[in-house]
Amino acid sequence: MEDEKCGCGGEETVKRPLEDDTEENSECCGPPQGRGVDCGDEASPEDLGCCEGPVEVKMGCCSASEPTKKDMAGGKETLLAAGGCCTEDGPQEDGCCSEAGPQEDAGCGCGCGGDFPDESLINNPVKPESIADPDFFDQLEQYAQLMGIVQIGYTHVTSELVNSKEHPQYLHAIVLTYQMGQDIIETPPGPEAQELNNATYTKLGRINYALSDFIRSRGFATQVAHPYGGLLNFSPLGQKAGLGWIGQSGLLISPELGPRMKISAILTSIENLPLKEPEDYSWIPDYCAVCGKCIKACPEEAMVEKESCCGMELEFIESRCIGCSQGCTYCIEECPFDKKGYQPVKIKFDKMNVKLAEKRSKDN
Ligand code: SF4
Ligand code: SF4
Repeated sequence: MEDEKCGCGGEETVKRPLEDDTEENSECCGPPQGRGVDCGDEASPEDLGCCEGPVEVKMGCCSASEPTKKDMAGGKETLLAAGGCCTEDGPQEDGCCSEAGPQEDAGCGCGCGGDFPDESLINNPVKPESIADPDFFDQLEQYAQLMGIVQIGYTHVTSELVNSKEHPQYLHAIVLTYQMGQDIIETPPGPEAQELNNATYTKLGRINYALSDFIRSRGFATQVAHPYGGLLNFSPLGQKAGLGWIGQSGLLISPELGPRMKISAILTSIENLPLKEPEDYSWIPDYCAVCGKCIKACPEEAMVEKESCCGMELEFIESRCIGCSQGCTYCIEECPFDKKGYQPVKIKFDKMNVKLAEKRSKDN
């Protein structure tokens, strides 16, 4: 009845029957990618000149070549041979990519949400185009995938997705996800984990700048939302772009990556983004309601369950989270979507619900 008072629909609060059978499951949340995380300043650009190609673009601290159609058709090897030295493979031994990484922003307790200078090499056109043809999006997606982007989605930015006082220049967003490496997951919180974490943000930032240059070279304008910056609230942005759903941990969970991802975005003047109908992720909150492994895994008790008129609600206390400042990933490690994968979790949950429904109908 209390539920009706606050208009929550009075749905039954599910307890945690998965407690036993999620022993081998695990892994959720993660460094607070979607929590306004991210800090500091990027390393200042310095083109060390190791990459030469037909059209040179710069990805943060290093230069690379924008691939031609032929390069893209040849796949990653051809792309790298053409000069794409700083892709997801990171720094080369010849020092092409310095790995200085973001510095902590002294104004933020957790070291997150700093401003980043736009390190795109190509300036925005004076009169940007606003309509792109389908070929453009095909090329953009191919280029993004060759550089290690796993998912690409599109959405329009609304005010609740803006995380900073800075006003976004464009409200059309290209949203990108990038996989976090196993090394980060396996390294306990501390300076080493933070360094690995920062390096991942830096790599994704460079990819953003390269894609920004690609888009600008086609006559459109962009504003890079660096993954370590505080301009946008990335998890809700990813959810709105149809890339996944936010789990109890506050992190985006996707079929491709579970919660093990970094998210970034490029805001653009392109108005006719190819918005896609997302798949049905509505079961994820139901699963989280019976799992709760990320809450138990958090060493800082950053996720606190509180009683409300709608049942138990989860409050995330950002100041406690050490995901950004120390590279903590315990809530990722314990999330079943990371340990088992998205589809196995879904299949198991569907089966459990069928059994529960059968039991209920027998009891009635
Ligand atoms: S409740 Fe479970 S499934 Fe949901 S985010 Fe946390 S660990 Fe992952
Ligand atoms: S401190 Fe807690 S919420 Fe933050 S990353 Fe670690 S486990 Fe996740």
